[in-house]
Amino acid sequence: MTNPSYRVLLYYQYVNIEDPEEYATVHLDFCKSLDLKGRILVSAEGINGTVSGSVEQTQAYINMMHADPRFASMPIKIDEASEHAFKKMHVRHKPELVNLSLEDDINPLEITGNYLNPKEFFEQLNQPETVVIDARNDYEYELGHFEGAVKPDINSFRELPDWIRKNKEQFKDKKILTYCTGGVRCEKFSGWLMEEGFEDVSQLHGGIVTYGKDPEVKGQLWNGKCYVFDERISVPINQVEHKIVGQDHFTNEPCERYVNCGNPECNKQILCSEENEHFYMRGCTHNCRVHSRNRYIKEHNLLEEEVNERLKKINEKHRISQG
Ligand SMILES: [Zn+2]
Repeated sequence: MTNPSYRVLLYYQYVNIEDPEEYATVHLDFCKSLDLKGRILVSAEGINGTVSGSVEQTQAYINMMHADPRFASMPIKIDEASEHAFKKMHVRHKPELVNLSLEDDINPLEITGNYLNPKEFFEQLNQPETVVIDARNDYEYELGHFEGAVKPDINSFRELPDWIRKNKEQFKDKKILTYCTGGVRCEKFSGWLMEEGFEDVSQLHGGIVTYGKDPEVKGQLWNGKCYVFDERISVPINQVEHKIVGQDHFTNEPCERYVNCGNPECNKQILCSEENEHFYMRGCTHNCRVHSRNRYIKEHNLLEEEVNERLKKINEKHRISQG
């Protein structure tokens, strides 16, 4: 890193916020007055945010937050950076911090899994009776995950409860560990697992990001990189060894580079090399490639005959690899 004079903060606190709508408005003004950029959610059940700024700006934010009794003990994860990780500053009021779409919402202040620090989590990972559930989305898992972690077959967090119910046999009588990026999703998910009748449920306190910073564990047993919801897209976790687990969407070659599908109506995040992005015109499927609004085709001013020429090459390549 050439000039680590910026920082990226990641934090959450489940706490009762009276009039969250009003708080969101005031908080946005406060963040703007500090020239921070980022994304913050505020709800009656708490706050969940990630912001970037200079060392001085982010420190002023931390000091102000910790001066508020509601957030006095809120852990804040700090990454060094060389620039902002966001373009704008948003503070949004939402009914829930994380959406599990439950009939009866879980309050982590009342029920949540045991908290494990990185060392305890690392030790539990090695136990034979342990099952580890990744509480994130598929595209996050695909870039990196804990060794042996179960990948729920879901596209978004709110599908997780249904998926667990359908697959509950594989978790019965096991010691369940859950983890997510910063910990906010697991607070609710682990609480829900306990309500659901699973007896031994623990969560990685502070999430993957905290695990990667632990001086003793050093991110071991994490493979790949950790997806983050800012312009960096991913951060390293395992300080000891780096095993690439990501696979190119088109060729299955090892890959850790994300792009959004060129079709704005699809916009799916896919891992692919620069070479394949060009070859496949950034389309995750044939239909996305030939979509009338494909951004790749627009950005490169490709004429119809050029597109057809490329489609022919793609067809040829696939005929050869199948034949
Ligand atoms: Zn697509």
